[in-house]
Amino acid sequence: MTPEEIEAAVQAGMPQTIEDLEGLAAIPSVAFPGHPEAPVHEAAAFTERLLRAAGLPYVRQIPIEGSFPAVFAEAPAPPGAPTVLLYAHYDVQPAGDPALWKTPPFEPTRVDGVLYGRGTADDKSGVITHVAALRTFQGRFPVGVKVIIEGQEEYAGERLQHFIEADPELVRADAMVIADVGNPYIGDPALTTSLRGMAAFTVEVRTLAEAVHSGAFGGAAPDALAALMRMLTAMHDEAGDVCVPGLTRGTFSGRGCTEEELRATAGVLDGVSLVGTGSVADRIWASYAITVTGLDVPDVHGAINAVQAVARARVTIRIPPSGDAKTALQDVTDFLRKIAPWGVQVSFSDFVTGAGFRAGAGGRARGAVNHAMAHAFGQAPREVGQGGSIPLVASLSRLFPEAEILLYGAEDDHASIHAPNERVVLDELRRVITAEAIFLSEYAQG
Ligand SMILES: [Zn+2]
Repeated sequence: MTPEEIEAAVQAGMPQTIEDLEGLAAIPSVAFPGHPEAPVHEAAAFTERLLRAAGLPYVRQIPIEGSFPAVFAEAPAPPGAPTVLLYAHYDVQPAGDPALWKTPPFEPTRVDGVLYGRGTADDKSGVITHVAALRTFQGRFPVGVKVIIEGQEEYAGERLQHFIEADPELVRADAMVIADVGNPYIGDPALTTSLRGMAAFTVEVRTLAEAVHSGAFGGAAPDALAALMRMLTAMHDEAGDVCVPGLTRGTFSGRGCTEEELRATAGVLDGVSLVGTGSVADRIWASYAITVTGLDVPDVHGAINAVQAVARARVTIRIPPSGDAKTALQDVTDFLRKIAPWGVQVSFSDFVTGAGFRAGAGGRARGAVNHAMAHAFGQAPREVGQGGSIPLVASLSRLFPEAEILLYGAEDDHASIHAPNERVVLDELRRVITAEAIFLSEYAQG
């Protein structure tokens, strides 16, 4: 098929594609504890049917220990052709407060070419991208195809990682597409070539055998909460840059957004300034970031007049692709121990680490996807980074150093993923599907 024929076929298939996405997004497949499990299984079965209907000869659900099944599909490679792995996930974030939604989260609603609903972007748009791109070939695929659609990415996603690490042959491929990201703006194509890693830990400070009266002892008794706050604020300098020794700042070679654009997307309030220095891309894609994500302290409501004996915080570190998560964890915990005031007792627990990712220079697959996106969008893609982590990507790049890993998708930066009023722009979805189908065809030709 020529790129023009593929484009026309994707266009002609859009009514079916949208219907498929609406059907999948209507299923509240929230794989978090406390949410019903039946809809998660229902979404797996729905995904399985979609892949069969797309012409894949082998489709099955794979049980994942301690998790929901992954849906796996496969079509053998024509002689001499490479194999492509296509990844997405069918589970979604919880909807949160329904009052914040303008349309019901699990009743996908179309308004002026935009489809609203939980999961319409993250990541059911990824599932549908693969289904619709594959359907274009009517069962005669130009490359070998493997599809893996995960059922528990948003909560405890490392289960699929463990499964793949135990049986990597299942997903071995020459190129791997992770359709769980998106473009900075609608119609502005991008490949995500850099992901930050992460580390997290809990820090506990103890000062007294138990809390004591703040009138009787305050002023002399060491307050665990005050000590912890001093330690936490010492991790950033006056400008808001991380100032922990060892955590050096990086630079991002591609173009990121401006400060104004970041202010708008992040919803920064008038008069409140951004933190840190350097370009926005340097700060959110190529440098360390430290965030206190939780504090165990007495609630304001019902607070009593006491000097606290113990205080705890959860701390998350985002790690640039050039850095190492375990080293950063060591650097930050060493720093906190060293600057802890008044000889307080400090302990650390509940460590988590995950590696980042930086794409290689790019080979045949990268060339084909650049070409395919240029055709589908009318301009070649630019490189962008992502501040968050996709632990599976780090695993795949470690297990298959020869494979080219490509990250793209229809979750543009304004898709409100993980937030109320999540949405996908249907024209953007069509372009991403077109790009993927052209990619598969051009990659086969070399
Ligand atoms: Zn996702």
